[in-house]
Amino acid sequence: MSTSIAVGSAYHTGEKVPVSGRYEFVRHSNPDSHCEPPAEAQSIPLSQGEAFPPCRSCSARSVWSLVEIH
Ligand SMILES: [Zn+2]
Repeated sequence: MSTSIAVGSAYHTGEKVPVSGRYEFVRHSNPDSHCEPPAEAQSIPLSQGEAFPPCRSCSARSVWSLVEIH
C-alpha cells in the first residue's frame, strides 16, 4: 500500500496531518467568511499525526495545503 503525499495537496480541519512539514492556509471552508488571517497564521509547521487546525484567526474550519516536507 502506498500513500501519495504531494506538495499542493489540500487538507481540511480535523484531518490527520500525513507528513510533518509546513502548511499554508488556503481558504475557509465557508466561502462567505470575511476573515483574513494575518501572515503568521497563514503558514504554519505541523507534525505528522496531529489534526489540521481551524483558522488561527477566527477558529472556523479551513483548508490547508502542503508547502514543504520537513
Ligand atoms: Zn479565519
